[in-house]
Amino acid sequence: MAAGEMTGATEKRSAELKVVSGRDLRHDRTQFTDAREERLFRSLDLDNDQRVLRSDLERILADMGLRRDDPRLTESMTALDAYRAAHQPPAEEPPEPGIPRDSFCTAIRHNILLIERALQGDMVIPDFGEFCGRIDRLFAESLANRNGKAADYIPQLDLKEPELDRFGLSLCTIDGQRHSVGDHDIFFPVESACKPVNYCLALEEHGEDVVHGFIGHEPSGATFNELTLNKHKRPHNPMINAGAIMSSALIKLKDKRENSRDGTLNALEARGWSGARFDYVVERWQALCGGEKPRFSTPVYLSELETADRNFALGYHMREQGAFPPDVDLHDVLEFYIQCCSIEMTTEMLATAAATLANGGICPVNGVRVFNTETVQNCLSLMSSCGMYDYSGEFAFSIGLPAKSGVSGVIMIVIPNVMGLCTWSPRLDEHGNSVRGIDFSRRLVDELNFHNYDNLTGRSRKHDPRISRVRMQAIHVNELIWAASKGDLGAMRDQLMRGTELSCADYDRRTPLHLAAAEGQAHIVEFYIERKVEDGAAIELNPRDRWGGTPLDDAYLHGNKAIVALLERNGGCRGNLSHAEGAGDSVGAPAPQAESHKTAELIWAASAGDLKAIRRLVAQGTSLDIADYDARTPLHLAAAEGHLDTVRYLILQGVRAGPRDRWGYTPMQDAERHGHTEVVDLLARHAGRRKSRRRQ
Ligand code: GLN
Repeated sequence: MAAGEMTGATEKRSAELKVVSGRDLRHDRTQFTDAREERLFRSLDLDNDQRVLRSDLERILADMGLRRDDPRLTESMTALDAYRAAHQPPAEEPPEPGIPRDSFCTAIRHNILLIERALQGDMVIPDFGEFCGRIDRLFAESLANRNGKAADYIPQLDLKEPELDRFGLSLCTIDGQRHSVGDHDIFFPVESACKPVNYCLALEEHGEDVVHGFIGHEPSGATFNELTLNKHKRPHNPMINAGAIMSSALIKLKDKRENSRDGTLNALEARGWSGARFDYVVERWQALCGGEKPRFSTPVYLSELETADRNFALGYHMREQGAFPPDVDLHDVLEFYIQCCSIEMTTEMLATAAATLANGGICPVNGVRVFNTETVQNCLSLMSSCGMYDYSGEFAFSIGLPAKSGVSGVIMIVIPNVMGLCTWSPRLDEHGNSVRGIDFSRRLVDELNFHNYDNLTGRSRKHDPRISRVRMQAIHVNELIWAASKGDLGAMRDQLMRGTELSCADYDRRTPLHLAAAEGQAHIVEFYIERKVEDGAAIELNPRDRWGGTPLDDAYLHGNKAIVALLERNGGCRGNLSHAEGAGDSVGAPAPQAESHKTAELIWAASAGDLKAIRRLVAQGTSLDIADYDARTPLHLAAAEGHLDTVRYLILQGVRAGPRDRWGYTPMQDAERHGHTEVVDLLARHAGRRKSRRRQ
């Protein structure tokens, strides 16, 4: 990633390293560019030459899962197109023109909030590329499952190989980050996946009380088309056939009433009304999907209609029981319900529709409100309890997410406030659910903490893709170490309760115990010793840091006699330090210390050579010239780990050349100790230039 991040910029920059002093970075604020825009510009200006590349911006947006044609970016992309057209040199294969600050800020201003969030990594799935890698792997694992068979009650669903083995998956987050894999662009009938939408339409038109006067909200425990009603002679819920027929009966009923004389429409009016009603449903689906138009399968509709005996039986049974509103025409409603089942979409479209539900009714890719939040809340509740036929209870228990399946092999899954997903694979299990869809859902919640109740468990073994890797490290490691260094035992206990390991270590393998010993926090050291007595070997009293130092070494170095005695009484021993105590120039100038956990994120990123994460932190306004509890800076860690690109980037951004850490060591000494000669040379050139410039 690190190399990839630099490529675009490397092309345009000369090989010669340009050194920029900290002072050069303080740009005069122009009339138009404010500090927030400036940060975004700076995060893209990798070599600090006051120019940014459009391709770098585009790559970052694409990495975030935002599409080039995302309607939320149109104005800025058009402005950048115009800039390119005006500044492209006329040569055959022209280099990409670098964009200066004012032009860049003017262009991005139109869509600045979205661009800012993308550059800052401030989206619901921050490490989106990594997340998609996991999804693709889970998809491939589920692809191997070839159990089950397609629905065979109509020829259009009874697919033969190779169609039978199709498998598509798409996802769309509430921030409009999108990803698809497999057969994601093939249209298939939505079948029962129309049920939640028809329910929402009925709710929006009549309100909850009226709708639930006609339909219950209890799982039926029976198959989706069971000829059964609840004890009030009403359908059990809107997610099974009887309930979906009832929701369909309620759609546009008000229009019908308003347009009819004496409660009925004549034949001609009725035809016009039912056409308009179907147009309306298609238009609502289109809005849910962010603009793409659904199709309609006439063959599916005709076959469904011919084999709809059970649905007709349900309809007649309900009519016999007086379940419908008085002005409903039963045949019209059954045909309409079957039309809705015959709407065709792709996984990509249905994932966006699911994301609109996940986002409380606002379509994430264009910001259009499709349903009220209360409508969506009701719909998701019923999808959770009733969406997966007679497997709903099992699905709610083991997967813990609202979902809706259809006999075409589709499953729409909603992760509230996170994303919508859709899988499609025609082979079904005995409940009528897609085998691969269920298989994938299981794998998804096995690995990621997406089950509704995963967030109860504190830090579980599952991965949380809502938090970036560097933030996770900062939260769970550095916060504990920092608390230890300050003597905040309460904060430490709280962290431990949430699952952070007492023996965690940072990028220099420094632990809370090292810092407690260094900073003279005897009660923290005592706490460790007590825990060791209770927990036995799980707690290490002599962990070694990057230089072989133990907490006892820290206590000696800082003359904390009480802690020396305490540790020595309890088995503490000296380490095999690779640096002599105070051998460095301990009176050197340390960098200013941590402002927030962003400092730790930055240092973790530098230690991993993760320029992408560093760039995001710059876009958030994080200073590169800061240090942690040991006065270690990003430059120290990039140098110690030998990340040449990162060291070069930090120098180009103007960080101070020789900050000293707790032991008085500079980044150059870090690079030397670890044998990173190229880094040593780079830092030496940097230091040399600084000196010669100072002499001038
Ligand atoms: N059209 C089908 C029916 O009503 C849809 C059923 C389904 O997907 N479970 O029988």
